[in-house]
Amino acid sequence: MIYMEKIGVFGGTFNPVHNGHLEVIKAAKEQLKLDHVLLIPTFQPPHKQARHLAPPEDRLAMCRLAVKDMPYVQVSNLEICREGKSYTYETLEILKGQYPQSQFHFLMGSDMFFTVQDWRNSERIAQYAVICCMAREKGELFRLQEHAKRLMLLGFQSFVLEVRPFPVSSTKIRTNIKKFNNLLHYVPKSVLEYIYVRGLYALPQGKTFYDLRP
Ligand code: ATP
Repeated sequence: MIYMEKIGVFGGTFNPVHNGHLEVIKAAKEQLKLDHVLLIPTFQPPHKQARHLAPPEDRLAMCRLAVKDMPYVQVSNLEICREGKSYTYETLEILKGQYPQSQFHFLMGSDMFFTVQDWRNSERIAQYAVICCMAREKGELFRLQEHAKRLMLLGFQSFVLEVRPFPVSSTKIRTNIKKFNNLLHYVPKSVLEYIYVRGLYALPQGKTFYDLRP
């Protein structure tokens, strides 16, 4: 029997990457017995208004710093090099071409899991990957399991990771960026230092990063 390599695919804005993201990767690696994980920052997220979006090369660099002690994670510039809106079905199609013998597990938090059936060409996402989700807040597990049943009727295979949630968001990091010490629990130190050195997210009220660029 041919062994099918199991690859976790984790896409997101990662603006910035935080420990909640790393918890998803660790839980998925362990519970799904993944061989490796591709961490793929989007160029432009199709589903949400990305306010205060740091340049793609900075988000990529922060992802690389965050996983430097996780040898089974590779940071991919696939979506950043493609530019434009980063649609998941397109990314999975490209990856399928690159790794024809592999089985993909697309990793996501609960907010994304509840909407994945509405993403562009979601039937192709269902064709290419098992959807694996993790609660972001306490008490979400039951709703996730119920949603997994609904997704099954729509042709998706899904898996709910059972772990204690790590409630943090990139928004929370960006809005509290001046509180270095408080953030150390939520963001790898190397990432936080990078943010400070590059002056990311420290914006006057109402300005975006791009307003400040020469
Ligand atoms: P923002 O606050 O800017 O909207 P975010 O924290 O939701 O950002 P994203 O980069 O948009 O981070 O998320 C990428 C993926 O990681 C999504 O599938 C999201 O649901 C998931 N995710 C983010 N934070 C967590 C968390 N704390 N626990 C579990 N999953 C998470």
